[in-house]
Amino acid sequence: MGGLTIINTVAAAPPQNVRASARIPIPFAAVRHMGSSSSIRLQTGDALIAVDVQNDFLPGGSLAVPDGDAVVPALNRYLAAFAARALPVFATRDWHPRNHCSFKEQGGIWPPHCVATTRGAEFASGLALPQAAVVISKAVTPAADAYSGFRGTDLAARLRATGATRLFIGGLATDYCVLNTVRDALAEGFEVMLLADATRAVDVQAGDGARAQQEMEQLGARTVRYEELAS
Ligand SMILES: [Zn+2]
Repeated sequence: MGGLTIINTVAAAPPQNVRASARIPIPFAAVRHMGSSSSIRLQTGDALIAVDVQNDFLPGGSLAVPDGDAVVPALNRYLAAFAARALPVFATRDWHPRNHCSFKEQGGIWPPHCVATTRGAEFASGLALPQAAVVISKAVTPAADAYSGFRGTDLAARLRATGATRLFIGGLATDYCVLNTVRDALAEGFEVMLLADATRAVDVQAGDGARAQQEMEQLGARTVRYEELAS
């Protein structure tokens, strides 16, 4: 690889008149090709999961995630990259009955949100989901909640049916449904790329989002940004 050649050249032949410490900074283009920081090439076996990008989780919604609408244009870039390679896309959604157990009236901790068939449950209108996107509805009965897109759904089987082994996961919110979806994806044996630029956190407690990201990384997810995708 060209990047590795550059690194070897830098390491093997430092200018004689430069102090050792001055050689530490490596050109960014070379860093991107080192070890685990190498750029990411989308390939067969990759699938994208957009988690709960629904109106109620966006500013103005009943359970708005701060800056939640920022994930829409961010995810659209990934969606375009997946579309260009005809790679599969999945979209999870909360799809609750009116008397869902997670709602405060029922003893839960959240205001009513994403009630099935309401506008609040619709995907963000600006989200460029392809026609072929597979929609996964979760937490559809009164008594069961599901932060994870895998819980009580056939998401794992559907992913495997497409041959997916590596999942690119973004959406809302980092510290709830993204976290739990990533946990289950890893437990199911999928490789996970967490889309850091296409997630936002609720942060009920300050730092929840950062802690969630740290946990996902410790469990084995790799945090990526769009710029790291090979063109
Ligand atoms: Zn919910």
